[in-house]
Amino acid sequence: MRSLSYIRARDVREAIETFAAAGEGARFIAGGTTLYDLMKLGVERPAHLIDIAAVEGADRIDTSGDVLFFGAGALMADVAEDEVVRRDYPVLAESLSKAASQQLRNMATVGGNLMQRTRCPYFRNGAIGAYPCNKREPGSGCAAIGGLDRSQAVLGISDACTAVSPGDWPVALTALNARIEVHGPTGARSIPIAEFYRLPGEAPHVEFAIGAGELVTGISVPKTDAGRNSTYLKIRDRESYAFALASAAVALAMDGDHVRQAHVALGGVATRPWRAHEAEVLLSGRTVDREIALAAGRAAFAEARPGVHNAFKIELGARTLADAIMTAGRKTQ
Ligand SMILES: Cc1cc2nc3c(=O)[nH]c(=O)nc-3n(C[C@H](O)[C@H](O)[C@H](O)COP(=O)(O)OP(=O)(O)OC[C@H]3O[C@@H](n4cnc5c(N)ncnc54)[C@H](O)[C@@H]3O)c2cc1C
Repeated sequence: MRSLSYIRARDVREAIETFAAAGEGARFIAGGTTLYDLMKLGVERPAHLIDIAAVEGADRIDTSGDVLFFGAGALMADVAEDEVVRRDYPVLAESLSKAASQQLRNMATVGGNLMQRTRCPYFRNGAIGAYPCNKREPGSGCAAIGGLDRSQAVLGISDACTAVSPGDWPVALTALNARIEVHGPTGARSIPIAEFYRLPGEAPHVEFAIGAGELVTGISVPKTDAGRNSTYLKIRDRESYAFALASAAVALAMDGDHVRQAHVALGGVATRPWRAHEAEVLLSGRTVDREIALAAGRAAFAEARPGVHNAFKIELGARTLADAIMTAGRKTQ
C-alpha cells in the first residue's frame, strides 16, 4: 500500500504554500471526480493531496460586473443553473448541463473541469507497460496512432499524440474569449484561454500553460451581446452521460440581420478546445442560412487529419457546427 498525505486548505495562500512545501507528488484536489478516478486506474500516483474545496470564496459566482466571474471552486451544477447565465449566456449553461451527470455536476467544480485529463483509453490504462502513451510516460510512444482511434482527435494532432481534449465547458469558454485567473508562488496572472491549453506537439504531457503548484482561482468571461444568441450542441454515442464525439459552441453578435462577429469553437474533435477562426471569417457580414452554415462547418475541418477509424468525425463535426450556427441564428430573429 502507498501512503498519502491529505490536507484541507482554508485559503489560496495556504493552498499554494502547502503545495510548495509538499514538493514532488503534490496535487490539488477539488471535487475529486477525475483525480480519484485516475488514482484508482493507476495513472495518477500523488503522494500529497491538497484539498481546495473549502478555500474561502472559491465558489463565488458574480455576474454583476463588467465580466462574468466564476470562482474555480464553483460547482458545475451551480453555474449551469445560474439564472443570468442561463438567460444571457446559454452556451455556457448548456455546455455544463450536457456534461457528465447531475450527481457529478453536484460534486465537480468548474476549475477541475478545465484541468481534467483526456479520456483516451490508452492514456487511462495505467497498468505499467500495458500500452505506450506519451502523455502518461513521455517518450514511450502512442498506441492510439494506428490503433483503436475512433474517439481520437482529427484537429491539432501530432505524431506523438492524438488524444481529444474532453471538456465541454472549456469549448464554450473558448468561444467567448474567457481568461483563466491563476495564483502561484510568484504571484497572480491572467491567461487568455487560447493560451491555456497546449497543442501536443512533441510534448503531449505538457497540457496546460500553468506550472505545478499554480492554482486556478477563477474564470473571467467578457460580457457580450452575442451571449444571448448562443448555443452549445453536443453529439455523443448516447444522449446523456457521455463525452462528445463532436460539439460546437456558437455565439453571434449581429448588426440587423447580418453577423457582425461570430464566436465559434469545437469540442470532441481536437487536441484542445478548438477555435474555428475559418468559420468565423466566413460568417462575418453574412445572413445566416443553411448554405453558409454548412460552408462554415466544412471550412472548420479543412485541415483535419483522420486516423484509421475516426474519419466520420470530419463530416459529423462539420454538420454539428452547421446545426449549431442555425440554432444560434434563429435566436437572433
Ligand atoms: C463518468 C463521467 C462522465 C463525465 N462526462 C463528462 C462530460 O460529458 N463532459 C465533461 O466536460 N466532463 C465530463 N466528466 C468530467 C467531469 O466534468 C470532471 O471530472 C470534473 O469537472 C472535474 O472537476 P473536479 O472538481 O471533480 O476535479 P478534480 O477531480 O478534483 O481535479 C481534476 C484535476 O484538476 C486539478 N485541479 C482541480 N482544481 C484545480 C484548481 N483550482 N487549480 C489547479 N488545478 C486544479 C486537479 O489537480 C486534478 O488534476 C465526466 C466525469 C465522469 C467521471
